[in-house]
Amino acid sequence: MVICNESLNAKTEMKNGGDKKIFYHKEQSYSCLNCGKCCRLWDVPITTAEKDRISKLKIDGLPIPIEECFVRDTKRKNVFLIRKKDGNCIFFDEKNYCRIHSAYGEKVKPLACRIYPFDTFNWKDHSVSASFRFDCHAVVARKGKKIGDYQTQILGFSDELARSGIFSDAIYRKGLAPGLDKLRTIAEGYKSILLNDEFRPAIRILAAARLLEFHGRKENRHDISDADKSFGRDASGLAQRSVPELEDDIENGPELDLRRKILFRYMLSGFIRTDEAVRYGTFLIGRLRRLKSLLKFSLGSGRISDFIENCDEHLVADPFRTLEKFHSKNEIWQIYWSYVGSKLSSLHFCGYPAFSYTFEEGMRHLIMTFPVAAAVASLYHEIDGNKDQKIDANDFQKALMAVDHTFSRSPFFRLKHVKKISKEFCRGDVLPSLLKTIKISESHNS
Ligand code: SF4
Repeated sequence: MVICNESLNAKTEMKNGGDKKIFYHKEQSYSCLNCGKCCRLWDVPITTAEKDRISKLKIDGLPIPIEECFVRDTKRKNVFLIRKKDGNCIFFDEKNYCRIHSAYGEKVKPLACRIYPFDTFNWKDHSVSASFRFDCHAVVARKGKKIGDYQTQILGFSDELARSGIFSDAIYRKGLAPGLDKLRTIAEGYKSILLNDEFRPAIRILAAARLLEFHGRKENRHDISDADKSFGRDASGLAQRSVPELEDDIENGPELDLRRKILFRYMLSGFIRTDEAVRYGTFLIGRLRRLKSLLKFSLGSGRISDFIENCDEHLVADPFRTLEKFHSKNEIWQIYWSYVGSKLSSLHFCGYPAFSYTFEEGMRHLIMTFPVAAAVASLYHEIDGNKDQKIDANDFQKALMAVDHTFSRSPFFRLKHVKKISKEFCRGDVLPSLLKTIKISESHNS
């Protein structure tokens, strides 16, 4: 059996003499493409100290006095850089450069700007985790420097973040807290299934879901509390023995009934909501309008333009119809396994990095990202008007960017009933039915 052990547990000397372990997926790569999208897409939160420091700078070309470039958002209890009418950050110039960076260098920019597209967290066991955010084009393109080449920056971010006093922790599920070491061992076990190119993709995804279901039973909790190095071997062995049964489950997966189709569309709407929609939803009328769009979308008659900007507003969004065009290719799987590997290696799918999800909740969410990303890719494909061609890696990249952006940032996924739907989808026959609907190529080696 080939086990792709792609995570890296790098031990790094710190300047102060202490040791910090950094956890990351060594296959991730990134180098800035200078596209400027990160200065356009998101609100930039800043600390009071950063605000005080930046407001004293002398920067030419700003449309307003520098002291007015900040706004306090009482709902989100934070100060943000304001944006210009075109949506760009107030400091973004006509040549796609940051005025702060140009005048004073990178170090003077707010931490939120310097850190992007890294996700870096400090953990209670004094370790650091790092992954690249898949909502950055350069990350999804998987070109540039390997994440391991950025160790100095990661440790620098870790030091700065430590000042916030936030140290992440995670449990397996309520009442079962085996500790971070064991959770990492268990995550490695999932990697031995999900990144194992001996299994075809649908089998890997279903086997991971079944393993989660297995450990969801009370009588198997000791597997979690006693997890050691044999966990991964046992997990992949179990998956290996279950292949005929899993194939059978997919082959005989019943067609999704109306209720489950509605629920899947409902989940999907959560994955493609934008920050703008979140902001818009702070007003009652806006929320009601959004609820109406969401219901229509869930019932299969909504317009995709209610969720995705700049697309044909008459387009009816039915992911089940468009999914028929989905045809997985090696390139798509390479992108997807890199995504899964980055989450599992860093634990950025549970604890503080992801709504304080338990390991179980985060794994369910992660397992669901494939059918969801396939459906979103098929919607993007239709939006782009490529009616005849099959869905390609470009569509899937765009979908994964949307999915990752909302993975740990959309409040939708904090809702109890959404977690319940995710649980229902990972158990029993729903996932096999979804995997059967998606045309997954047999050519799957990544
Ligand atoms: S401060 Fe500079 S780097 Fe940060 S969002 Fe604004 S323009 Fe971009």
